[in-house]
Amino acid sequence: MQYNQCKPNNPQDIEDLNLRESWLDQIIWGNPALTTTKANKPVSLFFPHWIDSNLIQIRDLRFSGGRLDVRFLLTKLSNTSDFIREAYAVNLALKNVKPIIKDHEPDANRATTTLPNCNPCIIGSKKFYEHIVKKKIERPISERKWREIMQHDVLDFKEIYNKKVGTIKEKKLAEFNFKVLHMILSCNYNLTKWGLANNDQCDACDQKQDIAHLLYSCTLSRTVWNFVDQIMDTNLLLSDIICAVNLNPVQTEIITIISFMLYKQWLIFRAAGISRNINNCIRFLTAELYTRVKLYEHTNNITLQEPLKNLLNNTHIMYAV
Ligand SMILES: [Zn+2]
Repeated sequence: MQYNQCKPNNPQDIEDLNLRESWLDQIIWGNPALTTTKANKPVSLFFPHWIDSNLIQIRDLRFSGGRLDVRFLLTKLSNTSDFIREAYAVNLALKNVKPIIKDHEPDANRATTTLPNCNPCIIGSKKFYEHIVKKKIERPISERKWREIMQHDVLDFKEIYNKKVGTIKEKKLAEFNFKVLHMILSCNYNLTKWGLANNDQCDACDQKQDIAHLLYSCTLSRTVWNFVDQIMDTNLLLSDIICAVNLNPVQTEIITIISFMLYKQWLIFRAAGISRNINNCIRFLTAELYTRVKLYEHTNNITLQEPLKNLLNNTHIMYAV
């Protein structure tokens, strides 16, 4: 066996490979993906007499119910003078692998004296680590709740987080979207749930004010979104406003800005003890749009300036509704 044969040098997509088979193909010795610790540092395994006993790949070991069969090792090894220490080290190195392999019977007839030329040898330990982490991660409850609220089973949240958080340059807006998607944005329902408010009613229409209500279904929000639909020639649904389902990147940013304005007014007016109504809502929106348009004028951001200017120049339409 050549030293460091397993060292990852060209990580490729692991998704196409059968992970269990990939692990079975892994060479035990000198493998950076299989380490024990020495002086608090990870070290790869290397027991030459195990190799002499044809124990080279993980598939040369026997596993039963996610455990390494130690008695099997004793039948294979010719030298067992330091067996307890060695078996302990191998067990430790295989800690995360054993649950994946579960049960495995080595092929007694397989010639294992030559090293296989296997694809998994070029997979880095990072890929295996990522896979193990991925398996342990549970999707946020908020994703299931948003699917239920929107009655939309096929929402791709990975893409949504990227669209609504990852690619939004203004961090305040990205943070706002993150809170919306994880259902941790302040609203009367959440504040009541967190013990910070006495009731979850909306200040504008007395309905339960959760995030969907505050940003979409409240009478004030409806007025604003109907106006946006009219000016931007859209037909915005809750799934567009929360998850940007049918929106392009510019629309996503504009809708985020308007949503943030709705939230900001509620936040400021709540702190001042003032209830919102259609008049102060339109006035607030107009002032915010004006500030944004001026800001984008200074920063030469035509992409956002033009659509917001178009909205600003037509805010009078909302008074007529
Ligand atoms: Zn309301």
